[in-house]
Amino acid sequence: GRTGEGPPLRADIDLAALRSNVRALRRRLTGGAALMAVVKADGYGHGMLPCARAARQAGAAWLGAATPQEALALRAAGDTGRVLCWLWTPDGPWRAAVEADLDVSVSGRWALELAVGAARAAGRTARVQLKADTGLGRNGAQPADWPELVAAARAAEATGAVRVTGLWSHLACADEPGHPSIRRQLASFAEAVAVAERAGLRPEVRHLANSPATLTLPEAHYDLVRTGVSVYGLSPSAEVGTPEDFGLRPVMTLRAALAQVKRVPGGHGVSYGHHYTTPGATTLALVPAGYADGVPRHASGNGPVLVAGKLRTVAGRVAMDQFVVDLGGDTAEVGDEAVLFGPGDRGEPTAEDWARAAGTIGYEIVTRIGPRVPRIYH
Ligand code: PLP
Repeated sequence: GRTGEGPPLRADIDLAALRSNVRALRRRLTGGAALMAVVKADGYGHGMLPCARAARQAGAAWLGAATPQEALALRAAGDTGRVLCWLWTPDGPWRAAVEADLDVSVSGRWALELAVGAARAAGRTARVQLKADTGLGRNGAQPADWPELVAAARAAEATGAVRVTGLWSHLACADEPGHPSIRRQLASFAEAVAVAERAGLRPEVRHLANSPATLTLPEAHYDLVRTGVSVYGLSPSAEVGTPEDFGLRPVMTLRAALAQVKRVPGGHGVSYGHHYTTPGATTLALVPAGYADGVPRHASGNGPVLVAGKLRTVAGRVAMDQFVVDLGGDTAEVGDEAVLFGPGDRGEPTAEDWARAAGTIGYEIVTRIGPRVPRIYH
C-alpha cells in the first residue's frame, strides 16, 4: 500500500511493544530485582524521551544513560526517577549532575574527588555508584585498585559528601552463553561486592546484567538489571535466541515510499560504480533511504527490503540518500511502500537481517538510523 502524505522515509516506533517488552523482561527477574531501561544513544535510535516515558509506564524503576548530557536531558524533560549515567570525563557537568539528583558512576579516585567537590559546591550529597572492572577491560576500577577506591568512598560518605548508592560492573561476553569469562566475571563481582560490604558500604543496588545476562543468567540479576537492546525488542545475539523466544517484539519499523519506478533495458548499470547491471529488460524501483539515514553501505548488493509483497535485495551500491531494487518481471507504483525492517511477521526483514547483510549487529542498525528520519510514535 501507499504510505500517503509524508516523508520519503520514516521510522515507526511501537511504544506499546516497548512497554510490553519491559513487562516481559520484568517477569523474568529473580529475587525482586528492578529493571533499568537503558536509553542512551537516543534510545538506541528510537528516540530517548518517548521511550523513557514508555519504559517508566511499564515499570522501569531506573533509566540508564551513557553521557551525563543524556541524563540531564531526561531531567529537563521532567523525569524525576532514578537515572544512572556512566560515561564521565574530568570536565563533565559534575555539579549539574549532583544538583539534578543523578546517580553518577565512579570508576576511580579522580572521579570520586570530582563528585565530592561538586557535592560540596552544591551543598548536597552526591549519589555515586562505584564501578568495578571485573574483566571487560573498559571502565571501572581494577581489582587491585578496588579496596582503595572503596575506602576513599567510605571516608567521603562519612563526611556526608557522597552516598554510595550502587556497586556495579559490566559483562564482556554475556551474548555468548557459556563463555568461560562469564563465570570469572560473576566471581570477580561477588568478590568486589564482598570487599565493599566488609568496608562498611551498604549500597541500594548491586548490578551486573545487560540484556543477554538478564535473558540467560538469573544469578546475575542481583538487585537491578540494565536492559537496553531487549527493551527495543531485539535479541542481543543469535546464540542467546530470537526475540520471540523471550516474548519480545521489535519496536522500530523502517519504511519508505518508492520515489521512482521505471523500465530499463538489459545491460543497464545501476548506482555508483555500476556494481550491478540489469541482466535483461526489467523494472527498477528507487528507495529513498541511504547511508546518511543509517542504511549501511556495507549492505550494498545484499541488504533486504520488502517491496510490493516480495523480498528484494539492494541492487548495486547504497548511496547517501537512496538505493535501487530490481523488481524483475514484477512491477510497483511510485509511492508504494518499501519496508526495510520491522518485527518480521509480515514478511519484512528484521534489523537482524540487515545486520547479517552488513556484517554487524542489530544494535548498530537501529542506533545509526539518522536524525533526518522522523520517528513516528504509536
Ligand atoms: N550497561 C552498560 C554499562 C552498557 O553500556 C549497556 C549498553 O551497551 C547496557 C548496560 C545495555 O546492554 P544491552 O543493550 O545489551 O542490554
